[in-house]
Amino acid sequence: MSAQLLDGKKVAASIREEVKAEVAALRERGVAPKLSVILAGDDPASVVYARSKEKSCNNIGIDFELFTLPGTAQEEEVLALLDKLNKDDSVHGIMIELPLPKHMDKKKVLEAVLPIKDVDGVHPINRGYILSGGDGLFPATPQSCIELMLRSGVEIKGKNAVIVGRGETVGKPLVFMMLNQNATVTVCHTKTQDLPGQVAKGDIVVAAVGRAKMVKADWIKPGAIVVDAGINEIEGGICGDVDFENAREVAGLISPVPGGVGSLTTVLIQRNVLKAIKLQGK
Ligand code: NAP
Repeated sequence: MSAQLLDGKKVAASIREEVKAEVAALRERGVAPKLSVILAGDDPASVVYARSKEKSCNNIGIDFELFTLPGTAQEEEVLALLDKLNKDDSVHGIMIELPLPKHMDKKKVLEAVLPIKDVDGVHPINRGYILSGGDGLFPATPQSCIELMLRSGVEIKGKNAVIVGRGETVGKPLVFMMLNQNATVTVCHTKTQDLPGQVAKGDIVVAAVGRAKMVKADWIKPGAIVVDAGINEIEGGICGDVDFENAREVAGLISPVPGGVGSLTTVLIQRNVLKAIKLQGK
């Protein structure tokens, strides 16, 4: 029997309703939530992501401001803009689209965002809060993996969770976020021995490797919950890091790509804007 799907679009729609209601309530008491995005260079995917965030913010009632800088812009210009946005009380969330032009120091730029406006959850202070279990702004994609499971009725507590990938964006923060959900966590990477054997121990398997269809059906424990954070461009569209068509015949629950984890990321960034407003004491 085919696995049931973890329906990202449905979960995203329910979170969107919550965010929309909260935005309306904030506006009623005179706070207009605002997200500012910096796009340096002309990476085509970043332009698409920024425009799609703009459209979604317009729909949900969050003010959106996009700053585009040419690929030749100097790091100092980005830092000066960040300083201005950090000090601007009308701006609640700041995001920098990646990749930055190669001549810029990514770490220096990301660390220049005020932690309480860092809605992408990339500042070391917010990373630290994930470890300490503190109240910070956490990255959207690992949050998406967790929300997708919890809102689909999955109990994470006590489960063996195997995370394939320890990237800074998804795998690494997710390790600690899953620990905070009381899962027993194994994290795998390129130096892991017997990857199929490790994956087979997972009641929950999260794939975040960036390799199309790499996690195979015969690695997966029958009935396991499979969450696919991967987005890979292939001929004719996109696919995840899991061999979905075959894995769905083994798994109990599985997230599709598209229509799974990726469907939640924009609304979770928007939810972070609302959390940022609280952290700013507004
Ligand atoms: P990343 O930084 O490139 O990290 C990839 C990780 O996978 C690394 O830890 C790497 O191990 C591991 N890996 C690669 N090949 C492997 C192999 N053959 N066996 C075992 N482990 C392997 O990637 P990321 O930025 O975290 O992104 C992960 C995936 O999530 C990508 O598909 C990306 O497109 C997707 N993503 C999705 C969203 C969304 O909104 N849904 C957002 C961001 C990213 P080492 O550490 O040993 O090199």
